[in-house]
Amino acid sequence: MKRFKHYDACTLDEAVSLLKEFDGKANIIAGGTDIVGLFKDNVFAESPEALINIKTIPGLDYVQEEEDMLKIGPLALLEDLAHNKLLKSNYTALAEAARRTASPHIREMGTIGGNICQFSRCWYYRLPNNRFNCIRKGGKDCFAEEGENRYHSIFGNVKDCLAVHPSDTAPALIALEAKVKTTKRVIEMADFYQTEDAKKFSILDSDEILIEIQIPRPSESTKSKFEKFAIRKSIDFPIVNCASKVEFEGDKVKKANICLNAVFVTPYVPKKAEEYLEGKALELDTVETAAQLALQDAKPLSKNEYKIEIAKSLIKKTLLACK
Ligand SMILES: Cc1cc2nc3c(=O)[nH]c(=O)nc-3n(C[C@H](O)[C@H](O)[C@H](O)COP(=O)(O)OP(=O)(O)OC[C@H]3O[C@@H](n4cnc5c(N)ncnc54)[C@H](O)[C@@H]3O)c2cc1C
Repeated sequence: MKRFKHYDACTLDEAVSLLKEFDGKANIIAGGTDIVGLFKDNVFAESPEALINIKTIPGLDYVQEEEDMLKIGPLALLEDLAHNKLLKSNYTALAEAARRTASPHIREMGTIGGNICQFSRCWYYRLPNNRFNCIRKGGKDCFAEEGENRYHSIFGNVKDCLAVHPSDTAPALIALEAKVKTTKRVIEMADFYQTEDAKKFSILDSDEILIEIQIPRPSESTKSKFEKFAIRKSIDFPIVNCASKVEFEGDKVKKANICLNAVFVTPYVPKKAEEYLEGKALELDTVETAAQLALQDAKPLSKNEYKIEIAKSLIKKTLLACK
């Protein structure tokens, strides 16, 4: 591991001014379950000079419902979210996504903020000592295109990168129509990830900190659900995951939100499927059509066509579970 400086920030202002001081050469550390591995394996093309610890800032781990909104602090632990009674009953997809993330030990350390800001798990990107200088690191090639691409994108590339986004909680937050408050602005969770700059995953600036997640309270006639397919039942990233939220009017769908992850460079919202479901009853044939529409534009690589059927089946499962 290369040497770096470590700062315990006492306030958000202090953390922001440290990030500004290092001008893109420092990272935030929350639970450390992702960033420490990246530092240890010397994954970055240019080693960051500092880690700014935000766990030393008090009061950032809350979960509280206020009027029509659930507010979650960025340091709320995944394990706490998984067992939170309010989340389990009203924001089910998020509680389930947190419960299915990693292992109990990692959920006791890992935070919701860190989970949605985590880096790629592409094995070419992640190989120690920057062995593959891929597009994400300023290189010219995506090694997955011709190489081992069984876990990569089925919806094409972005700036030639085929790595998928690995977060379990991000699709749940997008389906639940969450917003993310930062030290600079409020962003729709659906707009949090970006495809313009291959060197970063979210739209956060290098001196910007995520300070709150806000989820509108679902109506009484709304249900949400999360499902994940992974090789192992625990400590495993998704091959595909899916979160759906359905609001009903009588027995018909008023509004459906669906978000898949691990199928594209950013979480993937199948808009055609969402629109098709409006005004329909959730029956086997309607969810089947919705799943077909959702995967209609898939362009699988040489070794990952199998993901299409998995994605369809998770869409159907989550939608039917909302009935
Ligand atoms: C063995 C293993 C298995 C895993 N399995 C899964 C899995 O199945 N599903 C899944 O989704 N994840 C999985 N993960 C990833 C893990 O869940 C994440 O590492 C964890 O949620 C990250 O949270 P953290 O607080 O530890 O983040 P950190 O490691 O501290 O930070 C991660 C990134 O987020 C940034 N960051 C953190 N907080 C903020 C903030 N408030 N504002 C701005 N930037 C911030 C950091 O700078 C860093 O870039 C796994 C990790 C391991 C090691």
